[in-house]
Amino acid sequence: MDILSNYHSHCNYCDGASPMEDYILEAVNQGLPSYGFSSHAPIPYESKWSMQASALPSYLRGVQALKQEWKSVIEIYKSLEFDYIPNVTGSLEEVMIKLDLDYTIGSIHFIDFLDTETPWEIDGSNEKFEKGLHQIFDGDIQKVLTRYFELTQEMVRIAKPTIVGHLDKIKIQNYYKPYFSEDESWYIKLVEETLQTIKDSGKLLEVNTRGWYKSKTQEVYPSNWILYRANQLDIPVVINSDAHVPSEISAGFNLALKTLEEVGFKHVFQMENGLWQPQAIQRFQGVKLKV
Ligand SMILES: [Zn+2]
Ligand SMILES: [Zn+2]
Repeated sequence: MDILSNYHSHCNYCDGASPMEDYILEAVNQGLPSYGFSSHAPIPYESKWSMQASALPSYLRGVQALKQEWKSVIEIYKSLEFDYIPNVTGSLEEVMIKLDLDYTIGSIHFIDFLDTETPWEIDGSNEKFEKGLHQIFDGDIQKVLTRYFELTQEMVRIAKPTIVGHLDKIKIQNYYKPYFSEDESWYIKLVEETLQTIKDSGKLLEVNTRGWYKSKTQEVYPSNWILYRANQLDIPVVINSDAHVPSEISAGFNLALKTLEEVGFKHVFQMENGLWQPQAIQRFQGVKLKV
C-alpha cells in the first residue's frame, strides 16, 4: 500500500504556520513519496494571506534548495496558488516557465471589487461576504454564484492553471447561513458548464479536503455529486489537503479516497519525476493517515 502525496500547502511565506522544513519532516515521517509547496502568490492588493512580492525570490530559492537537499529521500515540488483576477492574472503557463515552477494551482478567492483597491474576498468571514453580497450584487446570491463560476471558467480558459483548486469553495458560506441549495437547477447548470470547461481544458480538478477537516463543509471540495459528474466526464483528479500546518498534510485523505471510489473513480493523479501520472486508487486503500 502506498501513501498519497500532497501538492497544496501553505508555509510561513504566506498564511501557513511553519517553515518549509517542518512540512518535509512530517511528510517523511508519514512516508509521503513527494511533497509540493504552493504558497499564495503575491497580488497587487493588500492581503493578509498572500506572500509579499519582495519575498517571492527567496521562496523560490528556498524550495529549490530543499529539492536538492532532500532528493534522495523525497521529491519536493515547487508551485504557487494563484488567484484569478481578470486583467491582472495572465497565462499561468507562461508564469510557470518564467518562475521555473513544477505546476500551478488556480483558485477563486475573490469576486470583483468592493472599491478600486479592495477585491471582494468570498471565503473569509461572513461579515465580509455579506458586504460584497449587498454592495456588489444587491443581495442576490444567484448572481454571486453565477459570477463565481463565470470567473472559474474564465480562469481555466485564460490562465490555464495545472490544477483547478477547490472548485466550490464558496459553499463555505453555507456554514454560516443557508445561502443556497446545491439541488437548485440553476446551480447544477453552473457547475455542469464549469465541469465541461475543465474537461475541454484537459487540466486537473482538485479534491480539496480542507473545508471538511476544518468542519466547515459536510463534504470535500467539490461536493460528492460534482465528483460523480466529473468522473462521468472522465476529468482527472488530484487529492490535496491545502495544509496550513504540518499536522494537516494528509488530513481528510481517507475520506477523499473513499468518496472518489464511491463515485466511480479508478485513478488519482500523482507527480512522479516531475510528471503527472494516474495511479490506481486501490493502491492507496487502507492507509492510516492522520485526520
Ligand atoms: Zn485557496
Ligand atoms: Zn490554499
